[in-house]
Amino acid sequence: MASLSTTAMRAPMVLPRTAAQLLLRSAVASSSSPASSIRAISSSASNKRALPVDPSELPPAGPGPASSQSSASAPVTPRAPDGTTRHDWTRKEVSEIYNSPLLELVFRAATVHRLVHPKNSVQLCTLMNIKEGGCSEDCGYCSQSSKYTTPSTPSKLSDVDEVLVEARKAKANGSTRFCMGAAWREVGGRKRGFNRILEMVSEIRGMGMEVCTTLGMLTKEQAAALKNAGLTAYNHNLDTSREYYGKVVTSRSYDDRLSTIENVRQAGISVCSGGILGLGEEHEDRVGLIYEMSRLPEHPESFPVNALVAIPGTPMEGNEPVDFPTMLRTVATARLVLCKSIIRLAAGRHLFSEGEQAMAFMAGANAIFTGERMLTTPTSSWDQDKGMLERWGLRPMVSFEDEIMAPHASNGAQPTQKEAAAKEAQV
Ligand code: SF4
Repeated sequence: MASLSTTAMRAPMVLPRTAAQLLLRSAVASSSSPASSIRAISSSASNKRALPVDPSELPPAGPGPASSQSSASAPVTPRAPDGTTRHDWTRKEVSEIYNSPLLELVFRAATVHRLVHPKNSVQLCTLMNIKEGGCSEDCGYCSQSSKYTTPSTPSKLSDVDEVLVEARKAKANGSTRFCMGAAWREVGGRKRGFNRILEMVSEIRGMGMEVCTTLGMLTKEQAAALKNAGLTAYNHNLDTSREYYGKVVTSRSYDDRLSTIENVRQAGISVCSGGILGLGEEHEDRVGLIYEMSRLPEHPESFPVNALVAIPGTPMEGNEPVDFPTMLRTVATARLVLCKSIIRLAAGRHLFSEGEQAMAFMAGANAIFTGERMLTTPTSSWDQDKGMLERWGLRPMVSFEDEIMAPHASNGAQPTQKEAAAKEAQV
């Protein structure tokens, strides 16, 4: 663990950003596979010792789509360099990235991560369940669905004051984003409840925190009202690939979800949308999920990666836990395809060891949920996570630190002088 920590923390500092960018871009522009990208970096670098990792020490490309692309006689299709936002990914390209040798994939993702995002920084978010259980949807993984008999107890919508106490506690513990979830199919006609949520959003934004909600399906008008109240982001997951989705949820369609995402985006709110691993899906479904995200008019500001926490009483109670290599492969692929998005380790993070989580940070994850609880499942505590970040040379982000959050900083509370100074200091 100690030696990985040392390597991980020193690696990005030995090559100036611009030089790294040039090397990476020239290498990737002349190559269509991760394996040949690495080789091109190696041959074009006049100072091999300046590279973060000597490519000659990386494992050779294994069998599969990645290695089948690198024949000398094969036509080379020029494409945008790594670290460029693209909306024209083909599913084959995403699949090739996902299926490349894992450590090469992590290396490539780590390199792009350090080009595009603040270095060694992790966003801390806290999630509060403001209305638990009794949901009319049938999401097969969820303890809050009224279709299943689970340990979840339905509750009423929380009071504003109760929520503000929790938001202040989160802020005092270093969280910069506060998320609120209500177990509803849709906001629908809940006018009083919705107004209460608008008040929560406005108050929490006034504390200088980023605010996110997840309230089910939204109309355009509701999205606009949330925007006016100061909402930073709205979470609405696609969960899995379009093909596998019907095995997970039948009470609303994939296109319903895309339609809410579009309403959120049109209102000028950042989209937080990701998926869950361990639903019984195949590798190609994880590819399909990332591919769907890559085709959105704007990539999600945040891509949460959840690992199923199997809840007794749900149809997925007997599912095998997702293995860490699959989690890592998904994070690294998302980092390369959705290069500017925040990759968020969400539910189920506590199932992985600290070393595994550190590897995920290396591969591009740069946000976690922390605090006392997820919606209905455990999470690591603030103290545990502070210790982890310290041990691995990471630091918590300030509000609106990452470039992708910037457009939304103008809505309501601006970053404080202290926040701006902190950002300046770490550039
Ligand atoms: S995931 Fe959300 S929409 Fe689905 S059942 Fe649970 S609370 Fe309802």
